[in-house]
Amino acid sequence: MAATFVTRFAPSPTGQLHLGHAHSALLGWRAARQAGGRFLLRIEDIDPVRCRPEFTTGILQDLAWLGIDWDGPVRIQSGHLPDYRAVLEKLSGEGLLYPCFCTRADIAREVAAIGHAPHGPDGLLYPGTCRRLSAAERAERIEAGEAYALRLDMEAALARAKGPLAFLEHGRRLRCEPARFGDVVLARKDTPASYHLCVTHDDALQGVSCITRAVDLLPATDLHRLLQHLMGWPAPRYAHHPLRLGPDGKRLSKRDKAPTLAALREAGHSPEAVRAMAAAPQAAAGV
Ligand code: GLU
Repeated sequence: MAATFVTRFAPSPTGQLHLGHAHSALLGWRAARQAGGRFLLRIEDIDPVRCRPEFTTGILQDLAWLGIDWDGPVRIQSGHLPDYRAVLEKLSGEGLLYPCFCTRADIAREVAAIGHAPHGPDGLLYPGTCRRLSAAERAERIEAGEAYALRLDMEAALARAKGPLAFLEHGRRLRCEPARFGDVVLARKDTPASYHLCVTHDDALQGVSCITRAVDLLPATDLHRLLQHLMGWPAPRYAHHPLRLGPDGKRLSKRDKAPTLAALREAGHSPEAVRAMAAAPQAAAGV
C-alpha cells in the first residue's frame, strides 16, 4: 500500500495573511486532496514577542473563507512547550548544545575585534565566544541568574552526521551544508525554542511526508535535515515553490503593504476570485 501523502500549512501569526500565504496554502491543500492524503494546519506561534492570538483567529477565518479545509485539530505550537523542551534536553544531554550569554552588543564587539563578519542564512555567524567557556563558568553564570540562549555546537553536530546529509527536493537529491548556519540558536533568551527546532519536531510528530512551502525556506532545510538526523526523525520530501510576486515583481510582504486576504474580502472580491489571484505567479497592478 502506498504511504499516505501528508503535507501542511504552517503560518506564523505575526500579521494577516496575504496572497503569498494563500498561494502556499492552496498549493499544499490541492496536492493533499489530489493525492487523497492529509492536509494539516499548524500555527507556529512560538515567538511570544511577534505572534498575536488575533492573527491566529484571522488565519483560521481567511482559510475557511477561501474554502480550504484541514484534517484533524490545528496544532498550536505555544500549547506544546514541553515537547520542545524535551528535544532541547536530549540534544543537551548529548553535549550538542551550550548556553550562550552574549548580548547582540557582545557579539558585535567580538566580531569587530576579529575583523571579519561571515554571514549564514540566518544572519551573522556567531563567533563562538561562549563555546569556549568552562563548565564551571557556565554553571556559575546560570546560578547567578544570567539569561542565556542555547546554541547548537555545529562542529560536534556535524561529527555525529559522519558524512554529508541530503534531502529530496522535487525528487532531486540535494546535498546539505548545515555548517553555513554556524552555532545556530535553538532556544532564544526570550523564546522557549527556535523555529528550526519546532518545525522539524512537529513535522516528524505529525508524520508530514512532503513539505510544501516557499523557496525562501530552502536554505533552512539544510539545518532541518541535520536536526532530523540528530534526533532520529524521518526525512520528509520537500517541494519548495516559487514566491508569489507583487505587481512590481518583488516578493509580497507585510512591510510592503501587500493586500491582505481580509482587505480583498472587504473590497468585495469573492473567494473564487482571490483563489485565482493567488494562483497567478505575479499579482496584476492594483491587487
Ligand atoms: N512558520 C513559518 C513561516 O510562517 C513557515 C514554516 C514552514 O513552512 O516550514 O514563515
